This record gives sequence, structure tokens and C-alpha cells, in this order.
Amino acid sequence: SQVTLEKITNLCKRRGLIFQSSELYGGFNGFWDYGPYGTAMRRAVEATWWDYMVEQRENVVGQDSTIICHPQVWKASGHVDQFADIMVDNKDSKKRYRIDNLLEQQSEEILAKVAELMGSTSDIGKLEAAFETKLQEGENIDSVLADAKVVDPSTDKVGDWTPPRQFNLMMQTYVGPVFSEENKAYLRAETCQPIFVNFQTICNSTRQKLPFGIAQTGKAFRNEINPRNFTFRSREFNQMEMEFFCHSDDSMDWYNFWRDQRLAFYSDVLKFKPESMRTHDHDKLAHYAKAAMDIEFEFPFGWGELEGIHHRGTWDLSQHAEFSGQKQEYFDQGRNEKYIPTVVETSVGLDRLMLALLCEAYDEDEAETAKDGKEVEGRVVMRFPAIIAPVQVAILPLSKKLGEGARELHAKLKPFFRSEYDEAQSIGKRYRRQDEIGTPFCLTFDFDSLEDNCVTVRERDTMSQERVAIDQLANYLMDKIRG
Ligand code: ATP
Repeated sequence: SQVTLEKITNLCKRRGLIFQSSELYGGFNGFWDYGPYGTAMRRAVEATWWDYMVEQRENVVGQDSTIICHPQVWKASGHVDQFADIMVDNKDSKKRYRIDNLLEQQSEEILAKVAELMGSTSDIGKLEAAFETKLQEGENIDSVLADAKVVDPSTDKVGDWTPPRQFNLMMQTYVGPVFSEENKAYLRAETCQPIFVNFQTICNSTRQKLPFGIAQTGKAFRNEINPRNFTFRSREFNQMEMEFFCHSDDSMDWYNFWRDQRLAFYSDVLKFKPESMRTHDHDKLAHYAKAAMDIEFEFPFGWGELEGIHHRGTWDLSQHAEFSGQKQEYFDQGRNEKYIPTVVETSVGLDRLMLALLCEAYDEDEAETAKDGKEVEGRVVMRFPAIIAPVQVAILPLSKKLGEGARELHAKLKPFFRSEYDEAQSIGKRYRRQDEIGTPFCLTFDFDSLEDNCVTVRERDTMSQERVAIDQLANYLMDKIRG
């Protein structure tokens, strides 16, 4: 059966993985909280990325910057002036749309009409760019949507549209006691800018020589016009980014290298099926970039960007040099040359990756209802790779009378695995619950365990059952999880 966003959202709520922020007050659009299992899993995904990108490499180091930085950082990066989406409102339905989302949902005929009026093709990316250019050039495009009879998808009727206008996505706050223009500051819209700002300090305080990378994970904030598709587009989310500094001559080799590494992360480490992923090269490049691509995942609502791999040239360091008045050059002893490093970036949203993992893992099949396996019933099973499963090992005593031995076993395994002890309800119900949160291994502690010092290990995916000696368990599970 097909995975839908509704099934994922319901499961996440039912099992306490992810739910609306401030639900008590009706929720807050674009903000999501993670419950105990969601938190355990998100931390595991982040740790897996960090291990792969930083700890297993000699040429990448980490940093952790503040969320609020000097406002000049965001002037230099262009975010204050240019980080904007185009939006329109329907005066009747009061619905607000991002222009690309709205156009995506029009018939071919309407789209062709908009394209004609805008002097563009019907390609959504090109059309959006045409809107941007015309707005910046002050051309009057106020009535384009009305003239093309653009339909409001929420009512299926031709809308009464406000003129398209630019909307800056930076979240603002004030630092200091007075809410004045000089005290205005921004919550970071991406985690990478503070990496560029710290480049010289990190060069001078570590033994790293070019080429090398700096990685950072953490919160980013964007005042998205239209948060949607569960956590896919949120207003507060986490990014995991790595900026790799190199000589421009080698930059395309590094670009290809990081693209391949990132694809291997999805296929080999997180075990995404090849058909769930695809890559998409950008046809329109920023003026400073030599190449850019997205790694996309097929979500229930269609293909969506999971990660961007970007060649950023010397753009960011040059901008910060100009705005700070401090040179951002690097003296390369090997080459006996001074230059501004070229940057290759890998950038993925942690929460978007969580959503992709949830969609990829979702499955429905039939399982035994009783210990003897004679009856079957439908089950929802999350086939998470064991390294990121919220619970890796569940310890289930067959009877509450076996609690003491089973708890002892739990204490033994807890230092090595994300593990859970559960003695409530029938064993069948407990299996079902563990299947829904994607626990790859259930250990049943029964009356024989007291005699033979073994437990039954049930594997989530094969439902095979194997008797394993308790003193061998940690190694046995470790091998399976590393698999
Ligand atoms: P989009 O086109 O979807 O708005 P983007 O191209 O602006 O994304 P980047 O600025 O390149 O995205 O950000 C890098 C990554 O951060 C994206 O690939 C995505 O995984 C994640 N991301 C960006 N915006 C959001 C958001 N609003 N909510 C959740 N994740 C996001």
C-alpha cells in the first residue's frame, strides 16, 4: 500500500515522533516539536552525518556558532537585500501564495498565458526569475495574474489577486533595550555564513592547510510564506552544512568528489533505495558558480530537494572581505601563492532528511498476532536502518514475573544501544508497537532464559527468531547494526 503524508503525520503524532508546536494553543504554523522517539532519531541522524562528514575525516573540522550574529554578516551575504520570495494574496479567500507554488498548480493553458504576458517560457523556474527581474526593474506587472485568469487552488475559482511583491525571509529581532533600527538583528537563515566569517580564525588556530572543510549543524530560521508538507518547509529547522575551501584549479574535482560522497551517504549509510533518489543539475547558475545541483527524494507529494551541492566560487569570502575591510586571502605554501579560496558546499536540512527517512521506511504488511505465530494481522512497520532507529533494541519479558532478569539485561545493553524495556500488554501488542517505531531487534526474555541464559531475538524485517546467548548479545547486535 502507498505511503501518504497523512499516514506519516498520524503515525508521528500517535507514537510521539513529531507533532505541532504549541498544540495546546492550536499549533503554530511552520513550527514542529519532536517527542521522545523523534528526538532520539533526529540526534542519531545528526550524529551519523557528523561522524561521516567530520569524525571519519582528517580534512574536515567542526564549529558551532551563535544563531544571532553581527547584522553585517547578513548584509555581506546578500540576505538582507536579496533573500526574498515573491508572494501574492487572494483578496477574497485571504490565501497567500508563493508565486512558484501558485503557478505550479495552474492548468497548462493558464500557465502559457502567464508566460506570454511575462515574455518567458512556462518553466516554473524561468517564470519565477522573470517575475523577479520585472519587479526589480520596476515594471508594472500588477495585473498579470488577473489577466491570465489565475485560479486560487483553495477555491478552484479565478482569484482577485494583489500585485506580486517581494517578501524578505529573514527573521528579525532586536539586541539591546531599545527597539531601534540600529539594534535590529537577524536569526540566521543558514548555518554556513558563520563558517565563512570564522575561516581565518580557524585557519590560524588549527593545523589545517588547504584544501580542508569546516562543518556546522544547527538551527536556521526562515519566515516562509507558505510552510507546508508537514516538516518539509518549516520556519524553524536544522541544517547540516560543510564548506570545503580549495584552490580554484581543483574546485571541480572537489565538487565531483563531494557529490559522490554525499550520494554514497544516502545509498550506503542510510540505505535509501536507488529509485527513491535522483539528482538535478541547476540550469541557471549564480554568476560566481561553476556548478550546482540538488539531490532529490521522492516524497509522497512529489520530488523535492533534500540537499544542495554548490560550487560557490570565491563569492562569500570576497563579500566578507569587502564588508569587513579585512582580507580573506590564504597563503598556500605548497603553491607559493596567495589567493582567496574557492568554496564547495554541501547543505542538507536535517528535518527534511527525517521526513525522507520516515517516508522511505513506511511499510504495511502482515505479522503474527500471537507468540505461536498462528494468527496474522496487518501491521505498520517502519523499516529504519538500525543505526538511526529511535529504539535499536527492545527488551520484552514474556511475563511480568520475569521482570528482574529482563531489567538486568536492559541495564547491560543500555550503554551500547538505544534500548527500551517494555512489559505492558501481550507480547503480540508489544511487537506491533515496536514495529511502528521501527525497532529492528526485539529480545524476548522467557522462562527458559532463566535456565539457558539465552533470549529470543526477533528481527523486524524478516520476523525470524533466533536464540542467542546473553553474553554474546552485545557483539551479535553490534555486528547486525553495523551490517
Ligand atoms: P527550497 O528551494 O526548498 O526553499 P533552498 O534551495 O532555499 O530550498 P537552501 O537554501 O539551499 O534551500 O538550503 C539547504 C537545505 O536546507 C535544503 O536542501 C533543505 O533540505 C533545507 N531547507 C531549506 N529551507 C527549508 C525549510 N523551510 N524547511 C526545512 N528545510 C529547509
